[in-house]
Amino acid sequence: MDKPSKRWLIVTLAVGLQSKPKRNNTRSRQAVVTYEIIRFMAQSIPANSPGAEIICHDPTTGEEIGRAPLTMPEEVARAVRRAREAQPAWAARSYSERGRLIIEARKIILRELEEIAFLVSLETGKPVSEAVAMELTTSLDLMQYFARKTAKLLRPRRISVGQYWTMGRSSYEIYKPIGVVGIISPWNFPWATPLDEVVMALMAGNSVVLKPSELTPLTALKIKEVLSGAGLPDDLLQVVTGDGSTGAALVASGVDKIMFTGSVATGRRVAEAAAKYLIPVVLELGGKDPMIVLDDANVANAARGAVWGAFANCGQSCAGIERCYVHESIAETFIAEVVKETKRLRQAAGTEKSTDVGSMSSERQLRIVERHVNQAIDHGAVALTGGERLRDVAGPFYPPTVLTNVTHQMDVMREETFGPVLPIMTFMTDAEAVRLANDSDFGLTASIWTNNIGRGQNLARQIDAGTVMINEVVYTHGIAQTPWGGMKQSGLGRTHGAAGLLELVRAQHVHVNRTPFLPDLWWFNYDEDAGKLFRGFARRFASGSLVQASLLLPDMIRRWRQPRG
Ligand code: NAD
Repeated sequence: MDKPSKRWLIVTLAVGLQSKPKRNNTRSRQAVVTYEIIRFMAQSIPANSPGAEIICHDPTTGEEIGRAPLTMPEEVARAVRRAREAQPAWAARSYSERGRLIIEARKIILRELEEIAFLVSLETGKPVSEAVAMELTTSLDLMQYFARKTAKLLRPRRISVGQYWTMGRSSYEIYKPIGVVGIISPWNFPWATPLDEVVMALMAGNSVVLKPSELTPLTALKIKEVLSGAGLPDDLLQVVTGDGSTGAALVASGVDKIMFTGSVATGRRVAEAAAKYLIPVVLELGGKDPMIVLDDANVANAARGAVWGAFANCGQSCAGIERCYVHESIAETFIAEVVKETKRLRQAAGTEKSTDVGSMSSERQLRIVERHVNQAIDHGAVALTGGERLRDVAGPFYPPTVLTNVTHQMDVMREETFGPVLPIMTFMTDAEAVRLANDSDFGLTASIWTNNIGRGQNLARQIDAGTVMINEVVYTHGIAQTPWGGMKQSGLGRTHGAAGLLELVRAQHVHVNRTPFLPDLWWFNYDEDAGKLFRGFARRFASGSLVQASLLLPDMIRRWRQPRG
């Protein structure tokens, strides 16, 4: 390894290169560079190596597509300090001023839609059209929504004070910006996930320091470019590209809140570190999302939904269908439909036209998929499609894989696979379906398919997941108005919707007494009359009944008039 002082140390983090030589591929002569070696190299970088870079690769071809700085901890701390200085002036601007800037940024995104979608595809391997549908469209919608509605969502809210109004009291809540929000994001939706949170945090009056995934820093830098182009002062949004050490530095750098999206393991580390500084965290973590297909479901549409839900984004969606439970009576037809639809999918480079499923985003993720599928097959699972990585093409291509004969003893039904794998089990009763769906450490989303909406809603109430969709899969992350977040190990807190916006502000309760000329009845001295009145409060005032409380009026007036010394 180079000396700590050496500048321009280059770190290769993204891996498009496969570990085996490929037929008909010039890259087969290239050095074999596996993710593990690269991680080792990254970990071996001396912490004081300013100038180090991330080399970004197209995961499909392995070609270099750009470079980004590996931000050192002291630079992260400086970025946070600058963000803190810039924030008050931004918070002083009105919601409509902030909203106008976001709308300007929207215009730039619309002008550069193709270029941005292409970049996202290049950095992740996903189809360009999918980047437009699942990332750009959804964030454009969120931008217009929060640009227009934040003022309304964060307007002061009256709070009922129960019977205290009879004493001239009232309360309301106001919402103040938190200050500097640190956002740490993953690679699977490198545009929408961070941008949505950036927009909401800015609209709430905060400044932001964003640490994107080391696999997708270029997309994050594009977010910065777009917002700067729209006129956002430079220090209000800073992007600190880097790996986990940069993320850890951000948590330790004095931000006021961390919005983290990523794996359970890293989320736990982030929460532990944040606890040390007593800063709140929102954790959007992994999922093992179940799909339940009831006996009265529209089988053809449920099958199409299952195929999209499991294989969109090459299965690398936190809310992707990771487990499917179908009623025994329709299982044969449903599985046949799923297999038919899966075989129709066209898998190729994401940058090619008409690709349905691209490559995976990294060799490391493909290895996890391989491990889950191989273990399942070794224990009796049957692959009706796929089941093995594609060996005759370059890049981390894993084909859409439908598995049957799976059990809850297999990792593929318990751990997050995060790849194009759809394992299917059958059930006999609604209660069994609910039990299977809930038999998981995760609880991000779930989906129920039925023609009887009432039956679906009844089952939805019994499922432990942050979102339950009826006759739908995955997509509600794309609805700006609805809350997003998990139960159990899938996380803490919410992003999106009013609940997500409230995570980005400090709520302050203001309480007003409009009778400043009267001492409170419960203040000193505690003489005998006071004791009698307090007991009356306990019995009557605290009953919630105005009639009961009014019976105390003579005692209350007496105490108000009584000299207290
Ligand atoms: P990851 O946990 O490996 O990394 C997430 C981010 O954390 C990256 O930016 C990484 O550099 C950073 N990081 C790593 N170590 C850190 C540390 N010690 N301190 C601070 N930051 C650190 O996750 P990933 O592989 O990038 O993303 C995939 C995971 O994200 C999956 O589990 C997926 O389910 C989850 N995810 C969840 C949601 C959701 O909304 N719940 C959305 C997208 C992805």
